[in-house]
Amino acid sequence: MTTVPDHSLLARLDTQPRVRDFISRAVASGRASHAYLFLGAPGSGKLDAAWALAQALLCERAGEDGDASSTLAGAACGSCDACVRVARHTHPDVHLLAPESATGYLINQTRELLEDVALAPIRARGKVYIIDRAEQLRANTANALLKTLEEPPAGVTFILLGTSTEVILPTIVSRCQCVPFRTVSPVRAAEAVERATGTSPERCRMAVSVAGSPARAIEFLKNAERQEARRQMVRAIDSLRHADEADVLLIAKDLMVAINAPLAEVKSTQQAILEQNADYLSRGAMKQLEDRNKRELSARERSGIMEALASARSLLRDVLMRLQGVPAPAMNGDVEDIIDRLCSAATVTGATAALDAVASAERCIARNVTPQLAIEVMLFDIRKALTCP
Ligand SMILES: [Zn+2]
Repeated sequence: MTTVPDHSLLARLDTQPRVRDFISRAVASGRASHAYLFLGAPGSGKLDAAWALAQALLCERAGEDGDASSTLAGAACGSCDACVRVARHTHPDVHLLAPESATGYLINQTRELLEDVALAPIRARGKVYIIDRAEQLRANTANALLKTLEEPPAGVTFILLGTSTEVILPTIVSRCQCVPFRTVSPVRAAEAVERATGTSPERCRMAVSVAGSPARAIEFLKNAERQEARRQMVRAIDSLRHADEADVLLIAKDLMVAINAPLAEVKSTQQAILEQNADYLSRGAMKQLEDRNKRELSARERSGIMEALASARSLLRDVLMRLQGVPAPAMNGDVEDIIDRLCSAATVTGATAALDAVASAERCIARNVTPQLAIEVMLFDIRKALTCP
């Protein structure tokens, strides 16, 4: 038996076997629905599953005989151009949408989405729209979407993600096939990452606490730039006690450079696609592609920042646990020395206040506050919390 190739996402849904089987059956039977609603708690891997389904739908070798590279029926080959692009989140026909305002999706966003749906795919035979936090589709923005959701153009698949049907508009729920996800504990998630990567349990625990779900943790462990951003965040928090105001601003600036480093690949892919299409797309379509690229880039920037904030929270939670005498192993076992140093200077109240500063930065980013400003404010607040008893 050959091993599953690196880029096959379906195989990684180790903690959601039912969802994995459901997706592979749906794709293998050729009767995939045109609108899914993935339902589950944060960290249950809904977004991972959405990318896996997108890959299975767009794989160039899907349905070809003689491809024994995967043991799952309906699974993507994991090695064709489409598979690799989906795995890297750079496929131009897979769109990830998130609410662009604190109150939810904007009317403009739905309008642009509908315009985009009407365009032909750029590379693949179909298009996939992943709509995160479907509960934030309010009546005024969702109504325009309902007809398309019910009857999208051929080849278009919607995957909506939400926590529960109770908080999502019934008119949306009724138009989608609902797929429930089970809740996954961090311990089980780390075990799944360990099985998939062979990395030490200590590093797997850290990766899950930073990246949030098993599949994202696996990607994180393969991405040197994302790991470097996390290392810089940890080092930044460690150095705050001896930092003056100018130092803090400098630390924030360096952090932003590290957090944004993975965007270079996205930018160059976007540029290449624009150039490939410049000859035969109309000016209007080019403009739309450019607008979409911009939005995608800012969404990717936001997710990089959120991951950096998750690194900060994970470290500070270790500090708090240790100060409270909780005997659990640290999530950040690779930086025990830093945890010890932070504990020696901080109090339970201080560590709690530092965690509040991270939560507040997350809220700011969700409200579209400039990332650098949010990080600066957070670092000043953490410095204060960790040094003043
Ligand atoms: Zn493929």
